[in-house]
Amino acid sequence: MCGIVGYVGPKQAQDVVVEGLRRLEYRGYDSAGVALVVPGDVISLAKRAGKLANLEKALADSPLPASHTGIGHTRWATHGAPNDVNAHPHLGHERRVALVHNGIIENFADLRARLEADDHVLLSETDTEVVAHLVELQVESGVDLTTAMQRVCQVLEGAFTLVAIDAHDPDRVVAARRNSPLVVGVGDGEHFLGSDVAAFIEHTREALELGQDQVVSITREGVEITDFHGHPAEGRRYHVDWDLSAAEKDGHDWFMRKEIFEQPRAVADSLLGRRNQAGLLQLDEMRLSDDEIRDVDKIIIIACGTSFYAGMVAKYAIEHWTRIPVEVELASEFRYRDPILDYSTLVVAISQSGETADTLQAIRHARTQRSKVLAICNTNGSTIPRESDAVIYTHAGPEIGVASTKGFLTQLVACYLLALYVAQVKGTRYGDEIDEIMVQLEAIPQQIETVLAGAQQVYDLAREHTGTRSVLFLGRHAGYPVALEGALKLKELAYLHAEGFAAGELKHGPIALVEEGLPVLCVVPPRGRDQLHEKMISGIQEVRARGARTICLAEEGDTRIEPYADVLIRLPRVPVLLQPLVATVPLQLFACELATLMGHDVDQPRNLAKSVTVE
Ligand code: GLU
Repeated sequence: MCGIVGYVGPKQAQDVVVEGLRRLEYRGYDSAGVALVVPGDVISLAKRAGKLANLEKALADSPLPASHTGIGHTRWATHGAPNDVNAHPHLGHERRVALVHNGIIENFADLRARLEADDHVLLSETDTEVVAHLVELQVESGVDLTTAMQRVCQVLEGAFTLVAIDAHDPDRVVAARRNSPLVVGVGDGEHFLGSDVAAFIEHTREALELGQDQVVSITREGVEITDFHGHPAEGRRYHVDWDLSAAEKDGHDWFMRKEIFEQPRAVADSLLGRRNQAGLLQLDEMRLSDDEIRDVDKIIIIACGTSFYAGMVAKYAIEHWTRIPVEVELASEFRYRDPILDYSTLVVAISQSGETADTLQAIRHARTQRSKVLAICNTNGSTIPRESDAVIYTHAGPEIGVASTKGFLTQLVACYLLALYVAQVKGTRYGDEIDEIMVQLEAIPQQIETVLAGAQQVYDLAREHTGTRSVLFLGRHAGYPVALEGALKLKELAYLHAEGFAAGELKHGPIALVEEGLPVLCVVPPRGRDQLHEKMISGIQEVRARGARTICLAEEGDTRIEPYADVLIRLPRVPVLLQPLVATVPLQLFACELATLMGHDVDQPRNLAKSVTVE
């Protein structure tokens, strides 16, 4: 959450910073602001509550003076309302230092009290403003901005990325990070800072990844990295393998819709190169030895939100193919229940961004208990894979819509690959069985294309539901997490009461919600599992008998379902464990279209932000 940009170089800093913020706006959109060092060695500042467009309008009406050094921020408020005053950047007492922040300073109340006792007037309610004052006190005492940042970081608690400029040092931007994301963009005679590479991708694809507890100083000529105590440190240089077009809407009305339609490609890319010439599965960054995998006797999957539902699907696949017991845990709950972990537990952390704070803290805990951690992540070099023993990267490309779509499907692919790989190493499945499932997986992109070709039916359905206030989703087995995901999408985007249930659980309580005309979306399992299919039909009949309008997602050729479906959406025929890869897609389209018809901002739903970097 929160987008951060910094720039120093020959271009107009205001333009570079605002453009960077536009590309990072999905990370937070409560307010936006920019600060520049301008001639006369003063800070020039503009900030506005609301979306970036408000700031852009203010800047169009009264542009800031020309400058070559600047910082910017889009906020996802944690401390204080999303208004103009609380918007970043914040200034020090003398307006000499301007600073932006991502994260939470946990000891800010103490620090604030001390500053106020020394007659500092703090204007905002944020935890951030104290840091601007503290850094400024340091530079006023005569040290340079880099040293000032190092010293201040030593007294801060919590999670933070900080980026600052000093009016008396006009050609430098200094940043620091602890548990929050920050990357450096390396250009020719110019340097950039960003919460992620999207901030500067149109200027350079050369990036430097920073470690924990590091301070970085950028000038036109160079980059200097130290730890919080001033000892020199190094970043890891890498080349970003996607370009600007991946961060643009490409003719679609929303990033989310573009990303839904990119799924065949994303799934295919996530499967690419996973088998060697002999047909055996190989996972590039699986830094766990076969012996370590054979020792695993329990798997705990930790994740949040949509990733958690991917984890629930993974449980069905891993247990079925490997016979290893799997628990799925919400990352935010994991640490606090004193989980039973040891060296034979494999913890699998699923996070699209690789920066999810709850998940990061959970894996740190797991590692202190000597468990091995494997990350499933979409962002190269982000913190969670860096702190894990092994990683499977999903190859979805940047996901900018706040509600995850291709991120989810590619996480599913990674989970299936993990399950099959463990089955291969442990010998719990024969090679030809693994081969057969891989062939089925490799057919999925084409099958998603088929689902997408039927988008119009789903859009028409959405049109019929613009006045609906409540929707239920039912599923069984691997279709249950799909139901939960379908409901989450509607909550996130259409702000509707939507709930997903295991179809068999309905009669134990939630069926009381059913009333005449209530739409119930039912994910019908393939007929391959006879009992499952029959039981699902019973559940559908139960809600129908009470007046529900049933919208059934069922495979081609399933005629048994026809009498019970008020609306029937056809899915391609796939095995039950893989069905989430195709069944989720109509639910994504439904939520996207319904929210659009209701006039909501699909890419930036209210109160949310991408990449939740605070606990
Ligand atoms: N805690 C800070 C605030 O509420 C930063 C939030 C963010 O990461 O955007 O302003």
